[in-house]
Amino acid sequence: MKKELIFLGPPACGKGTQTTRLAKHFGLPHIDTGSLLRAEIANGTEKGKIAKSYIDKGNLVPVELVGSIIKDRLSRDDCKNGYILDGYPRSLEQAEMLININKEIDKDNDADFRAIYFDIDPDILISRIVNRRSCSNCGEIYNLKYKPPKVEGKCDICSSPLTQRKDDNEETAKARFETYYRETHPLFDYYNDKKVLKSIDASGSIDEVWERLLKAVED
Ligand code: AMP
Repeated sequence: MKKELIFLGPPACGKGTQTTRLAKHFGLPHIDTGSLLRAEIANGTEKGKIAKSYIDKGNLVPVELVGSIIKDRLSRDDCKNGYILDGYPRSLEQAEMLININKEIDKDNDADFRAIYFDIDPDILISRIVNRRSCSNCGEIYNLKYKPPKVEGKCDICSSPLTQRKDDNEETAKARFETYYRETHPLFDYYNDKKVLKSIDASGSIDEVWERLLKAVED
């Protein structure tokens, strides 16, 4: 059965690491709106130019812009068995839009749709954000404190240089938290009311969280 999985949780709760692994596990595409938007910026597109001003301030990019990127991406062939959606939806408006997008793409859609909430103490997350680095080539995520690369500044997997996201500084991170609790967290009740929400304890090691995540998506 087609699997449509979406993920909720504050910035740096570990969604990126876990959902990348989950996508490989199920052979489904990992679709991450933050990365799609950063690619638009890197390619200098019109969409990228608009998105940049919002991302730099820690605000949500306008709903129509992200919606059009997501619709294009979910229409691709590799999504016919489902998808792992990381970073979308991020507001009630986007959640309603996702329902419409899914119907437009596949009107008889009867996918197993689940929302997974990463439950974690937000106090530890700012430190995670400022210590986060990622590979400029393969996207592997590191943390200078908890998961440092073997060679400083280089990816363990492909040896490419590690970079820090421009919005991973303390000031923008604080704005991203405010945006999360104001715009995105209400989706917890939204999906809970629809009986499609599962909450997992997102504290502990990457492997511990992975075990909990697999259980939540498989049972
Ligand atoms: P992320 O990589 O998920 O932390 O996202 C980085 C930034 O991209 C966010 O702070 C937002 O400015 C923007 N962004 C990512 N996903 C969305 C979305 N679904 N809706 C609006 N803005 C988004």
